[in-house]
Amino acid sequence: MERINIPEIFGSCVFNDKVMRARLSDDVYASLKKTIDENVKLDENVADIVAEEMKKWALENGATHFTHWFQPLTGVTAEKHDSFITPAPDGGVLLEFSGKELIKGEPDASSFPSGGLRATFEARGYTAWDPTSYAFIKDHTLCIPTAFCSYSGEALDKKTPLLRSMQAINREAKRVLKLFGNEDVKYIKTSVGPEQEYFLVDQEVYDKRPDLVYTGRTLFGAMPPKGQELDDHYFGVIKPRVAEYMADLNEELWKLGILAKTEHNEVAPAQHELAPIYSTTNVATDSNQLTMEIMKKVARRHGMVCLLHEKPFAGVNGSGKHNNWSIGTDTGVNLLSPGKTPYENAQFLLFLCAVIQAVDDYQDLLRLSVATAGNDHRLGADEAPPAIISVFLGDELTEILEAIKNDTPYQGTEEEKMKLGVHALPRFAKDTTDRNRTSPFAFTGNKFEFRSLGSANSIACSNIMLNAAVAESLHQYANELEKAENFEEALHDLIKRVITEHERILFDGNGYGEEWIKEAERRGLSNLKTTADAMPRLLDKKNMDMLIKHKVFTETELHSRCEIMLENYVKTVNIEGLTMVDMVRKNYLPAMERYLFRLAQTTSLMRKVSDKVKCNYEVSTMERMSELTDAILEAVKALEDALGKLKTLDNIFESSEFVRDEMLPKMENLRKYVDEAEMLTSQRDWPFPSYGQILFSVK
Ligand code: ADP
Ligand code: MG
Repeated sequence: MERINIPEIFGSCVFNDKVMRARLSDDVYASLKKTIDENVKLDENVADIVAEEMKKWALENGATHFTHWFQPLTGVTAEKHDSFITPAPDGGVLLEFSGKELIKGEPDASSFPSGGLRATFEARGYTAWDPTSYAFIKDHTLCIPTAFCSYSGEALDKKTPLLRSMQAINREAKRVLKLFGNEDVKYIKTSVGPEQEYFLVDQEVYDKRPDLVYTGRTLFGAMPPKGQELDDHYFGVIKPRVAEYMADLNEELWKLGILAKTEHNEVAPAQHELAPIYSTTNVATDSNQLTMEIMKKVARRHGMVCLLHEKPFAGVNGSGKHNNWSIGTDTGVNLLSPGKTPYENAQFLLFLCAVIQAVDDYQDLLRLSVATAGNDHRLGADEAPPAIISVFLGDELTEILEAIKNDTPYQGTEEEKMKLGVHALPRFAKDTTDRNRTSPFAFTGNKFEFRSLGSANSIACSNIMLNAAVAESLHQYANELEKAENFEEALHDLIKRVITEHERILFDGNGYGEEWIKEAERRGLSNLKTTADAMPRLLDKKNMDMLIKHKVFTETELHSRCEIMLENYVKTVNIEGLTMVDMVRKNYLPAMERYLFRLAQTTSLMRKVSDKVKCNYEVSTMERMSELTDAILEAVKALEDALGKLKTLDNIFESSEFVRDEMLPKMENLRKYVDEAEMLTSQRDWPFPSYGQILFSVK
């Protein structure tokens, strides 16, 4: 393999800090930097200069076009390319790019989902530059990360509310930090490192499966004799073809300044994982969107297809995404890292409490932030965290919180009682040894890992909710502590009260067990099993009030988002239903009929030749297959009826419940018969590649 110079290629396609510092004057750089770090409005003259330099840099690096790159509510990214050319008076062309073009774009975006927003307000939307995420070059195009809004300012994308949620947590965390005497902190930022799981399958095999092509997952397929039982794939040796893919992928990502770091095989055959080094939340979100895009693109170059669907194969582990999340100051302090002194630890404990309370108060928001038709197949199955949201802290922290709650000494604090005030809060070491893979929300030493995300989810959604919910806890704490006469006593009382009130969300046991479901119900935790159950909770008064108060969403935006997400759920399942009908009518039933014909022909011929033959195999297979074709016919008719009925429903809440209660069970039922038939039919006569052939297609 060719040797690559990593430091040289890293970020070579990015208009990053290094490039800016080298190409911009000190004044312009300082002004832009202030905008990036402190969210100060950018001067128009500065924008013109930056645009000019950006253009020159892009042209030098082979770009011919530019685009405002944004993240509409479809969940994937969007771009519309414009070339830099403008006609010159002499008949030639000039290459131009102004500050205005950098800052604002007007894509004709009438086909993006808006949940009625654009129809109600203005027909067109506009995109606005997000200077906090670096511009980059992809496919000869300068891509400028942007937010996407309607003319009346309503967000039509995932980035705008994410940036707003970061502002909210920044505002409230700074208030709290001030109370601890941290006057030098200019801003706080949340960081995320998303671990991304995916499947790789051979393109030829993929192309033969209409369900994979149309829906991203297999809608039929009997289990192969060998699945993941042996756990021989997990962290196993990476196959040469996959290794080449990973090397190529890393190089592409590095060029885009994405810190791809860890890669390994996952539990299921053909399943892999890629983790980047963490970065600021909105940058991490942009990077993860790009990573998913590049993963798919590079796979094609290697004759493979990268599946990002949450559950491409029933009965085999699906793919998730772990959202590692922390809060840090511009002075370099990770606020979720236990400190060295009791005082630092008091601050840490308060931030810890803020997260615990946030997760408890807004379980439903976190749950719905990961809700999609695809992810519903994972949550609650014994492979991914349950749909019930709980927090895992590990032994040491749990003991400390217990001690604070009961005013009993913790081993580190000797004879002093917690009640004596903040100085008695314990010293302890960061503990990263404790792991609980079944917890949806686990503390892992200096960060929380939210594990319920699906592999195809944009991480924007969970981080919006997480940031906003934690901002709300901090807001309440700041209000209380700012008024306190004795800060240390008030702080101690507050921490103690939060622990007592939110203890129910803490759970260190097995999240996959039946008992937990019952226990969680006793504790009053919510268990929103499907998207149809979870999404409408976005409009609960408590949730809307909080999100509106922190200016993360407006009321109209919330209504539109709920509608769009539910529409997405309904449309996804509708396409799956139609694909099933298509495959059954055009392929499965005719294939079974051919096989039945052969069996019948064979039986009658054999009986003509000899009266001793019993034809047990032929006859018993024929009998069961014939029952199955009848059952399949009934099941496909029922599904067709449901698809017809779905078309007549025009209330999105009703449609999504219909999908949950009628469509999905009917699809499941149809599949059951077809999968049984697969086991009875000769492989030669079966119309599509089997699970075994797909899962082990990459040699
Ligand atoms: P694990 O073994 O728990 O999955 P790793 O250290 O491998 O832990 O990290 C997993 C992900 O968490 C990586 O993407 C990493 O960059 C990210 N990460 C590590 N520290 C932090 C942090 N302080 N804040 C946010 N993400 C982090
Ligand atoms: Mg992890």
